[in-house]
Amino acid sequence: DIDEATALEIIEGEGLEHDQAPPPVVAVVGRPNVGKSTLVNRILGRREAVVEDVPGVTRDRVAYDAEWSGRRLTVVDTGGWLPDAAGLAAAIAEQARMAVDLADVVMFVVDATVGATDVDEAVVEILRRSGKPVVLVANKVDDAATELEATALWSLGIGEPHPVSALHGRGSGDLLDAVLAALPQQAPPQLLAVEGGPRRVALLGRPNVGKSSLLNKLARENRVVVDDVAGTTRDPVDELIELGGRSWRFIDTAGIRRRHRENQGADFYATLRTQSALERAEVAVVLVDAGQPLTEQDLRIISMVIEAGRSLVIAYNKWDLLDEERRHYLEREIDRQLYHARWAPRVNISALTGRHVDKLVPALDTALEGWGSRVPTAKLNQFFAELVAAHPHPIRGGKQPRVLFATQAGVRPPRFVLFTSGFLEEGYRRFIERRLREEFGFAGTPIEITMKIRE
Ligand code: GDP
Ligand code: GDP
Repeated sequence: DIDEATALEIIEGEGLEHDQAPPPVVAVVGRPNVGKSTLVNRILGRREAVVEDVPGVTRDRVAYDAEWSGRRLTVVDTGGWLPDAAGLAAAIAEQARMAVDLADVVMFVVDATVGATDVDEAVVEILRRSGKPVVLVANKVDDAATELEATALWSLGIGEPHPVSALHGRGSGDLLDAVLAALPQQAPPQLLAVEGGPRRVALLGRPNVGKSSLLNKLARENRVVVDDVAGTTRDPVDELIELGGRSWRFIDTAGIRRRHRENQGADFYATLRTQSALERAEVAVVLVDAGQPLTEQDLRIISMVIEAGRSLVIAYNKWDLLDEERRHYLEREIDRQLYHARWAPRVNISALTGRHVDKLVPALDTALEGWGSRVPTAKLNQFFAELVAAHPHPIRGGKQPRVLFATQAGVRPPRFVLFTSGFLEEGYRRFIERRLREEFGFAGTPIEITMKIRE
C-alpha cells in the first residue's frame, strides 16, 4: 500500500501538481529548411512517461509544452505553414508578424552554413520593429569548424548568434539558457490579474459563427475598457467588459475583430490564435452555428479547449434562425457528437437579437466553479473505496488492478492522481471519470486523471 505522505512526495517530485500560470510562448521563425522543426523536436526532448487520460481529444497542434531548467515553455513551430501564392519573402514576413503577435520571445533560426539571405534581413526588420526579445539561432553548426560561419551572423544586427546543431544537439543547452534569459522579467500583465481580477474569457469558434457579432453585442450594451497596460510590448488585445455587475476580460478581441487577410494559411493561423487565446484564458465560450450541422472544425476547437485544460461553455448561436425541425434534430445531434463534452453548460443565443445573451454569465460562473473545485483527499478515498468495492476492475492475467490511493493534485482543471496496483483499462478510467462527475459535479470543466502504477 501507499500512504499519503509518500504519494504527495511522488506527486511533487514529478511535477504532477498543477502549475497555474500559462508558460511563456516561444515562437520559432525562419526560412524553410533552416532546421526549425528539428530544433523544436530537440527542445521537446523526452516524452512524458505517465499515462494521461483526456477523453475525446484529437492531437492536432502547432504549440508544444517544453521545459528547461524547471521552467515551462510553450514552443510554437511556425514551420508547418507556408503559402505558395504570395511568394516566399512575403510568406515568411507574414509568418514572422504572426509569431511576434503571439510570442513572448522569438527564436529566429538562420542556417549558418548558408549565411544571412535577403529574406533573413527582411525578417530581422520586422522583428526589430516589434520590440519583442529575439534570440538569434545559428543552426547547422555541427562542429567547431563551422562556428566561424556563425560569427558572421553578427552582421544581422540583432545581437549574438547562438551556434547550435539542432540535428546533433550541440549548443542547444546554451541556447535554451539564452531563451530563458531573454524572457520578460515580469509576468505578462494578464497573469497579474489571476487572483481576484477579472476572469479571462476566450471567445472561440470557426469563421462566421458570430464571434464578433457577440462581442459587439456585449460591448455595445455594456461598459468596455480597452486594456492598454503600460510598459509592455503587447498590443492592447483584450477588452474588459462589464457583465452581470462584474468585469470580465475578453481575450484577443483585436484578433476576433481583425479580419484575416491570408487565405491559404487561414486554418493554421486560426489554430494558432485559438491556442494562444486558450493559453491565457480561464474559460472558453465556443460558438457554434445552431442552424448548421456541427463540423469537424467545431469539434476540433472544443477538443482544443479540453486538451488545454480550460473550462468550457458551448454557445449555440443564431438561434433566431432555427425552425422546429432543426430544433428537434439538434438535441440528438448534440447528444451524439458532443458526448465527450456533455458536461459543458450550453446556452442557446442569438448575437443578432440578443436572445438569452444574459444566460452567458451564469454559464461562465458554473464552468469556472467546476474548474476550480477541489475534493478533499479523505472524501476522495472514501469514494474510491466504495467504487472499487462495488465495481472492481475486471481481472486480467489473474490479477486485479486496484486503486490504492487517490488525491486531487491540482485545480484549474481538477487533476487527479491515482496510485494503482496495475494498469487500469481505458474503459475503467472512463467509468471512474463518469462516477467522479456524478458524485462531485465538475460541470463545465475537463478533469484529468493520471495513473501511477506501483509495482
Ligand atoms: P524547417 O523547414 O526549418 O523546419 O527545417 P527542418 O527541421 O525540416 O530541417 C531541414 C533539413 O535540415 C533537414 O534535412 C534536417 O535534417 C536538416 N538539419 C536541421 N538541423 C540541422 C543541423 O543542425 N545540422 C545539419 N547538418 N542539418 C540539419
Ligand atoms: P465571426 O467570423 O465568428 O466573427 O462571425 P460574425 O460575427 O462576423 O458573423 C458572421 C455572420 O453571421 C454575419 O453576417 C452576422 O451578421 C451573422 N450572425 C451572427 N450572429 C447571428 C445570429 O445570432 N443570428 C443571425 N441570424 N445571424 C448572425
